[in-house]
Amino acid sequence: MTEPVKPRRYHGSLMCPHCGSTTKVRASRSLSALSRETFHQCDDHECGHSFKSITSVSLTIVPSMKPNPDIRIPLSEKVREIARALVALPTG
Ligand SMILES: [Zn+2]
Repeated sequence: MTEPVKPRRYHGSLMCPHCGSTTKVRASRSLSALSRETFHQCDDHECGHSFKSITSVSLTIVPSMKPNPDIRIPLSEKVREIARALVALPTG
C-alpha cells in the first residue's frame, strides 16, 4: 500500500529505514534518462546506516511540450481521458 501524496518540498533524501532519522545525500549518478541512483547516509551517528536508492520516472501527469520520441513514459488516466476526448472531437 502506498501513502498518499503530500504537497511539500522534496530535497531528494529519504528517511533512514532503520531508525527513521533524516539522511544526507552523499552522491548520485544518472543510470538512464528515466532513472537515478542516490547514495544516502543516516544522520544518527549511533545508527550509521548507509544505503542507496533508485529514483525513476513512472508516470506522465502533464505531457511535455517538447516530447522526445525516444522516451516512453506511461500516461496518467486523466491524460489518456483527455486524449480520447480530443480524438472524438468532430473536425471541420
Ligand atoms: Zn538510521
